[in-house]
Amino acid sequence: LRVTRGTVETARWCERYRAAGLSVGFAPTMGALHAGHVSLFARARRECDRAVASIFVNPTQFGPGEDLSRYPRPLEADLEACRQAGCDLVFVGEAADVYPPGYETWVEVEDLARPLCGRSRPGHFRGVATVVAKLLAIVRPHRAYFGQKDFQQARVIERLARDLDLGVEIRICETVREPDGLAMSSRNRYLDAAGRRAAARIPRGLRAAGRLVAGGETSVARVLAELTRELAPDPDLEIEYAEARDAESLAEFPAATLPRPPRRILLAVAARVRGTRLIDNLLIPPLDAEHSPARGAEEPRG
Ligand code: AMP
Repeated sequence: LRVTRGTVETARWCERYRAAGLSVGFAPTMGALHAGHVSLFARARRECDRAVASIFVNPTQFGPGEDLSRYPRPLEADLEACRQAGCDLVFVGEAADVYPPGYETWVEVEDLARPLCGRSRPGHFRGVATVVAKLLAIVRPHRAYFGQKDFQQARVIERLARDLDLGVEIRICETVREPDGLAMSSRNRYLDAAGRRAAARIPRGLRAAGRLVAGGETSVARVLAELTRELAPDPDLEIEYAEARDAESLAEFPAATLPRPPRRILLAVAARVRGTRLIDNLLIPPLDAEHSPARGAEEPRG
C-alpha cells in the first residue's frame, strides 16, 4: 500500500497507473473505515487494475455546529483496513493541501442538492461536490465508487461528473449493514446502547414501508405513515425527514401517488438519535449490484 500525503504526489502516482495502461478505480472516504467503505474498495479492486482510496475529513462539507472537530480519525487502523482490502494507494489529505490559502473555486449542483439533506445542511453538497470534483481531477479514475447509504450524495456526484464531462463512470454500491439492519456509518460509534436500539428502528421502518410498496400500495401518505409508525414512538429518535421521492430526479411525486415500475422509488430518512445525525434509505426496486442507475437514467422512460 502506497500512502501519499500531497495532491501533486497523488496525481503523479495515478498518472503512472494510467500511462501503464492500467484502469483505475477510486473510492473517496472521510476515514473511520468500516465494512461499507471496504465494500467500495473491494469492488474497485474487482473491476479495475488499481484501487485508489482517499481519507480526507473535508471541512467544507460540515456546517457550523456540526461534528467536524470530533469526527473520528483513527488513521493507523484506517491504513490497515486499506491494506487488508488490497488498495494500491491511499491519499491521506490535509486541509491545507486540498484548500491552500487563496482557494476560491466551488462546484454547485443545483436541483439535486436542494431537497432532503440539502434542506437541513445548507452548503453541505457544495462542499461535497467541490471536494469530489477535486479528488476526481487529482486521481482521474476510470471508475469511482460511492455508497447507496448517501444516495443523494451519489446522485449529486453522478450529475457533476456528467455536467463537467469528467469522463469517469460513477458506480453506486449497496449499503452494508450491521446484523440488526443499521446502516454502517462512521457516526455509529457516537451511539450508546439505547441510541443503538433506537437507530435500528430506521431500517425496520424502511423495510416495513418497502413491503407496503412492493405489495402495491401507491399512496405516499400511507407508505410514509407505515415508516413513521416504526420511528415516531421512540423518544430517542427525532425525525428530520422521512420522504418518498423519484430516485432519478429526487423530485416529489405528483398527486402524492407512487409510480409503477420501472420508475425507481427512494424512501429516505434522516433522524437524530440522542444528538447523532443518521441517514438511511431504501430503493424500490433495489440497485442491481453491477449496474449504476446512471445508465438506467439514460434509457427511455415509460
Ligand atoms: P464517508 O466516509 O462517510 O464520507 O463515506 C465514504 C463513502 O463510503 C461514501 O461513498 C459513502 O456512501 C460510502 N459508505 C458509507 N457507509 C456505507 C455503507 N454502510 N455501505 C456502503 N457504502 C457506504
